[in-house]
Amino acid sequence: MTPTRCPCLSGETYDDCCGRFHTGRAHAPTAEQLMRSRYAAFAVGDVGYLRRTWHPRTCPADLDLDPAVRWTRLDVLDVRGGGPFDAAGTVEFRAHHRLDGERGSQHEVSRFVREGGRWLYVGPVDETR
Ligand SMILES: [Zn+2]
Repeated sequence: MTPTRCPCLSGETYDDCCGRFHTGRAHAPTAEQLMRSRYAAFAVGDVGYLRRTWHPRTCPADLDLDPAVRWTRLDVLDVRGGGPFDAAGTVEFRAHHRLDGERGSQHEVSRFVREGGRWLYVGPVDETR
């Protein structure tokens, strides 16, 4: 099998990067890696992974990905906390996409918490304060 580039553009192959988190072979050790793997899950359409890494308190009941959206690049802009020994952290990012030939992007400061040794996405900081 030809190695594919990880959609999070870390420069690693998908298998060695976010793919191992998506398959459950490993758990993202930092909030940034969870953020990257969630972006990659959007890119490859892995809804199950998005649900598993979403805090049950904030995870939407309906989670449908728009197949017309093509995720093209992720820029991680700022990381606070979120290390292997932290219980919480924030990651600021801009995710670029294309929809019907139009370029767009989504900017968010996301809040993550670590529960039971696993990082979970809570939501945008403004909505969860
Ligand atoms: Zn990756």
